[in-house]
Amino acid sequence: MTIATLRYGDRETDYHVALTERLTTKILIHVHPDGIVEVEAPPNREPTIIQAAVQKRARWIFENLDSAKDARAYALPREYVGGETHFYLGRRYRLLVREDRTVPSTVKLVRGTIEIVAPVADRAAIRRRLRQWYRIRAQEYFRRRIDEIASRIDWLSVLPPMKLVPMELQWGSCSPTGSIHLNPALIRAPRHCIDYVLLHELCHLKEHNHSKKFYALLAKHDPHWVDTKAELDRLAELFLAE
Ligand SMILES: [Zn+2]
Repeated sequence: MTIATLRYGDRETDYHVALTERLTTKILIHVHPDGIVEVEAPPNREPTIIQAAVQKRARWIFENLDSAKDARAYALPREYVGGETHFYLGRRYRLLVREDRTVPSTVKLVRGTIEIVAPVADRAAIRRRLRQWYRIRAQEYFRRRIDEIASRIDWLSVLPPMKLVPMELQWGSCSPTGSIHLNPALIRAPRHCIDYVLLHELCHLKEHNHSKKFYALLAKHDPHWVDTKAELDRLAELFLAE
């Protein structure tokens, strides 16, 4: 194992090179969640060739280092103070907190910020207010998307009831009585990820388990669901952290 340095613009990072018999031609680059960059190469590869291969993917490496860093920072419990990042429909918003006893409490999206005006602006109050706002948005948005997606599904004749249910590790579920339960935290995810979860639960109205028939049905309605699921899994910690 050797260590080398990659430079790209004004940035640099060290990376480990491991020569492995397992590989014959390919050079593999991994960016680990803890920010370690690891390069695997076949034993007979020249160091200059390895270096060139790493350089070629420099942009990708730094992008992955940035998202790994974000994931580590934002997976920490939220503090509910001004300046903190919160997600809504897959976008990052900065929290702006203003204490004002003279006006009613409001939450608004204003140019990249979630602006909260509240008579008491301590963390517990802001957390409560924000959570309530997410729920209201989730209720409205999920309902609208379910109706839209369901209207395009030919075997569905009635719009299923929907209920918000906070869950620790799950985005949604479908009850045996045909009611769709959704985690309000899902409103933090990108729109296409939300649609994927809704479609998944809607497909359970026809196929109640994760059988081959279920996945075939899902793929029929969304041929790209595997990629979307992978994306949501990768970001799950960010959106579930409270
Ligand atoms: Zn399922």
